[in-house]
Amino acid sequence: MLRSTVGQEIAELVEQEARVLLERVGIHSPPVDAFRVANELGLTIQIDPMLKTRGYSRKRWELGTIVVGSKNPGKSERKQFTIAHEIGEVSLRGKVEEAVLEEASNLMAVNLLLPREWFCRDAKASDFDLLELKMIYSTVSHEVISSRMLEFRLMIITIFDNGKLYRRKSSYPFPVRTSYPLERQCLMDVTASGKKIFLSDEKIRVTGWPIFWQDWKRVILGTEFDEWEVSSRQ
Ligand SMILES: [Zn+2]
Repeated sequence: MLRSTVGQEIAELVEQEARVLLERVGIHSPPVDAFRVANELGLTIQIDPMLKTRGYSRKRWELGTIVVGSKNPGKSERKQFTIAHEIGEVSLRGKVEEAVLEEASNLMAVNLLLPREWFCRDAKASDFDLLELKMIYSTVSHEVISSRMLEFRLMIITIFDNGKLYRRKSSYPFPVRTSYPLERQCLMDVTASGKKIFLSDEKIRVTGWPIFWQDWKRVILGTEFDEWEVSSRQ
């Protein structure tokens, strides 16, 4: 439902390919370390401080080299994603059309780092708690984890950086408002307290998670409508 440009067929192929790769390198539980996957597959990773883009891969499967930039050295989650993406490019080249290779490689990164079956199980077990999932899938950013959550539950995920809207995505099959009063309240409460906050009224439930780093305050909200609300609007 959230797969915009690549079709269902490619999405399934990518998922299957990710399963095979993880099996092949003997990773059977999270977290998935993309460096380890690359190494087990015989891919060499070079860190190039001069590289302007995030990364690229040099073709040939067995002799492949992945080059990643060293920008944001503290952001190891970004490097993990970049490497997982490049593994995608190497393994999907020739299997999907060149025109969708980039998009399919992003999908591959998500499926390598947050494999469908594991993630679905853990998301349900944690009742879709972003912070709990982040502890399990420690190599993946809160942003990518929260986006993956939308594939397994009807909800809205909204990300604010220092109080400003950064991204809002919904998995509901109907249009949602740009914001709800309870969401604004939750954003304020999380920003002020630095704690996870849960608010609900008769219509919606909002959970807010703080992702604060030094003086950077990111808040992610998960919003759900009550059952009757969903059924009455479908
Ligand atoms: Zn790429």
